[in-house]
Amino acid sequence: MLHATGPLLTVDVGERTATETEIDELLERYVGGRALATALAHERIPFDADPFGPENRAYLSTGPLQQSQMSFTGRMNMTGLSPLTDGLASTNAGGYLSRNFVETGISVLEVVGESDELLAVHVTDSGVEFEAVPELEEATVPEVSDYVEDEHDLGPENCIAIGPAGENLVRFASVMTFDSRAFGRGGLGAILGAKNVKCVTFEGDAAPELEVEIPDPPESDIHREAATSDDRMRRQGTTGGTEFINDNFSLPTRYFRDDEFEHAENIGGDAVEAKKYKKGACSACAYACKLPTRDEETGIETEGPEFETVYSFGSMQGVDDIVDVMKSNELCDTLGMDTISAGVTVAAYLDSEEEFGNADLAHEITEKIAYREGIGDLLAEGVDRCHDELGVDNLTVKGMEFAAHDGRALHGQGLSYAVANRGADHMYGGMLSLEYSGELDPQGTLGKAETLVEQENHNAFRDTGVVCSFGGDYVTEERLETLFSADYDDLLAVGAKTVELERHFNNQRGFDEADDRLPYEIPDLDEALTEYYEARGWNDDGTVPEEPRLEATPADD
Ligand code: SF4
Repeated sequence: MLHATGPLLTVDVGERTATETEIDELLERYVGGRALATALAHERIPFDADPFGPENRAYLSTGPLQQSQMSFTGRMNMTGLSPLTDGLASTNAGGYLSRNFVETGISVLEVVGESDELLAVHVTDSGVEFEAVPELEEATVPEVSDYVEDEHDLGPENCIAIGPAGENLVRFASVMTFDSRAFGRGGLGAILGAKNVKCVTFEGDAAPELEVEIPDPPESDIHREAATSDDRMRRQGTTGGTEFINDNFSLPTRYFRDDEFEHAENIGGDAVEAKKYKKGACSACAYACKLPTRDEETGIETEGPEFETVYSFGSMQGVDDIVDVMKSNELCDTLGMDTISAGVTVAAYLDSEEEFGNADLAHEITEKIAYREGIGDLLAEGVDRCHDELGVDNLTVKGMEFAAHDGRALHGQGLSYAVANRGADHMYGGMLSLEYSGELDPQGTLGKAETLVEQENHNAFRDTGVVCSFGGDYVTEERLETLFSADYDDLLAVGAKTVELERHFNNQRGFDEADDRLPYEIPDLDEALTEYYEARGWNDDGTVPEEPRLEATPADD
């Protein structure tokens, strides 16, 4: 099976050491990206670790396709013990980092320990340097980029960075790259904040030595089709579906008080496209679905908002002006916060204050969260930990705030939110497209477990490859088989092993069936959970029967 190449680089920021370990066997079994990082995290993060402790580890990993020039591969994976969910979480981001990371010659970076001063870590193909950067304390993400450019002649595409939110241990702080692309979900930015790591840069010239041969076809076919596609998504990104989703009663509104937003068209795809001023892409991607937007009147400039931000800072807050949502998006990127969790948490606050629709207040509160000022200190803990004090419902699963795509309307998606190892997020399970398209009846949960398992396994492998989730129509199952020189079932087995490792790790931290629950009713959830655990081969309390063996090839497991 095609896999990433290069050693594991462990950087201990407390000891100021850097160690390379050959992991060829692990790469052969776990390919790269999410699977590889999950296997390492399962092995090397103590089951009783404190997410903010020096023993927690953050992994940044690449897949083999990042050594190609194929569309839909401009992404990287990040994994760690989440300060938000208290379980393992993986998240991925686009931008231009992946090619620069590959040029350092490693397949995965592991950051461990805790520095006693704020650090920039510089990873090159010839070694690692540690630089104290007290002047970057509380710097925003663009200010870090300016520093990296001025002092090291590197661009934001060479860099991951945290903003004030990460330094202040906001539980949903993101790790940013290229200023606007977020490793968003799960608060991995707060892991780097706890370690006193402000940024990590990547620079080198090692890729030609790595010798991964990408099959062609399909490499150039995928690239050509991406470049010539007339998908609406190429003009409007993920926002193109906003009104369709609203028409399907799946756009949660005013902190889930409503299931449709009367002003959806004001914040949907056409509204965003009207503010788009140039094309945007990730490294090597001819599909170019990104959304650099600007409002001439206010001078607000950002990348996005993507659909999930239109939901979290738009409909969920009762905010109906796309410029206000752009401003919120800009704030989250600059301060380094996940737009979904931040937006939903601000929506919870607006609910408690009966202030839906007050965009100015939303902006003020968003800033206060990043700096933990006043009420922001409480809200920085996330909805699961602050809802009691606010007097609002706890709209989370495993501590994570919901993505859009309302499980009350899409019951299979609701089941997927319940069981996902990282909580109420739509990227692990992803039943939504099957239910929107009618391929699956959105009503009911029974009989959907086998499909959900396959979706989860597919998505876990996609995040392992690493392939962008928007490339599914082009990087098809057949093409994945050719690209990775393996049967699709073997690729799914890698995904299944990843999900099992995540679940087993979380079980050791006390997660079980009681955590696979929703804060609202969907039909037959108990029976559907039983079907799901059976389909996974797990115990009926949602636990993994035996400790997974890392040395086993997933397909033989
Ligand atoms: S499809 Fe869009 S998000 Fe995905 S890699 Fe291409 S430009 Fe980036």
